[in-house]
Amino acid sequence: MTRLERFIEKLPAEVDACLVTGELNIRYLSGVNYTDGFLLISREGSKLYADSRYIEVAKRDADKGFEVILLEKGRGAHIKDALKEGSVIGFEDNIMTCAEKDALEKALPEFKYWVNCGGIAEELRNIKDEYEKECVVKAQRMAESALDNVLGRIGKDLLTETDVALELEYLMRKQGADGIAFETIAVSGAASSMPHGVPQNRPLEKGFLTMDFGAKFNGYCSDMTRTVCLGKPTEEMKKVYNTVLEAQCAAIDFIKAGEKCADADKVARDIIYNAGYKGCFGHSLGHGVGLYIHERISVSPKSSGILTPGNIVTVEPGIYLEGQYGVRIEDMLYITENGKENLTKAPKELIVI
Ligand code: ZN
Ligand code: ZN
Repeated sequence: MTRLERFIEKLPAEVDACLVTGELNIRYLSGVNYTDGFLLISREGSKLYADSRYIEVAKRDADKGFEVILLEKGRGAHIKDALKEGSVIGFEDNIMTCAEKDALEKALPEFKYWVNCGGIAEELRNIKDEYEKECVVKAQRMAESALDNVLGRIGKDLLTETDVALELEYLMRKQGADGIAFETIAVSGAASSMPHGVPQNRPLEKGFLTMDFGAKFNGYCSDMTRTVCLGKPTEEMKKVYNTVLEAQCAAIDFIKAGEKCADADKVARDIIYNAGYKGCFGHSLGHGVGLYIHERISVSPKSSGILTPGNIVTVEPGIYLEGQYGVRIEDMLYITENGKENLTKAPKELIVI
């Protein structure tokens, strides 16, 4: 079954056609990477609308289930042309703004029934096929190679947090990445206690250096964090690092298809809290990764999700001691029928530079 067919299968029965406006969902369902257009998906036949800037690529790349139409008037006018009066229209309520919806309702007074269809594409996106997994793996290998290169140059030609972040990004792009998966984090010394600190143009501080970064390949993101130590770590620093590593490895061991996301989070959280670091691990254990860096599935204490074959999730516990330092270690797992595959190959033992 194609992605489009799976989407149609999940549409509520009363919906005659579903308007898809989310950029990543458009890309996922149609295979076309473009902005400013939309899809109109229905059991009778689906349409992809693209303006003159993207029409050529749309004709080339669109899934065969779509009729490709040049967008030359307003969205509402095209919908009116495509559907019978009174049709029930689904829309992505998690993506469309209130202003966009108001404008459409005004333009289409003959269509009174709108049905929330937000989340259908995101649910499908949670289950990756072999091609999607390979894209994530390729992005991850680029990130690992960049890290390997950068680690040998810290304190030589890479002297600031900005140097480290930019070099990681440059090396990933140089290997063929489409771009970076998210803003690169490279924080050193006291700044490492801020989980999502922003790299500064200042000399690298002694102590922990946390790098959280990823590449994008064919639209698919990778995500990895490694923390290294610049100069000799104290005993307490070693304890913090090894506690995070132990928590991460235990959660990875635990994770497999059928387990609850919240239970996986608890495995790591209990180890960190029992080691005396209650309150020092504020974020979730992990999240889904795919076309978007934070895909729908969340591995957190509040999550109701169950790990399913085809999920790609991160496992990224951390300990952050305000004003002192922090450590995070992050891998990506692909959930299989029998367990999981760790897509991250970079070493995790504490590296001292
Ligand atoms: Zn990350
Ligand atoms: Zn992450």
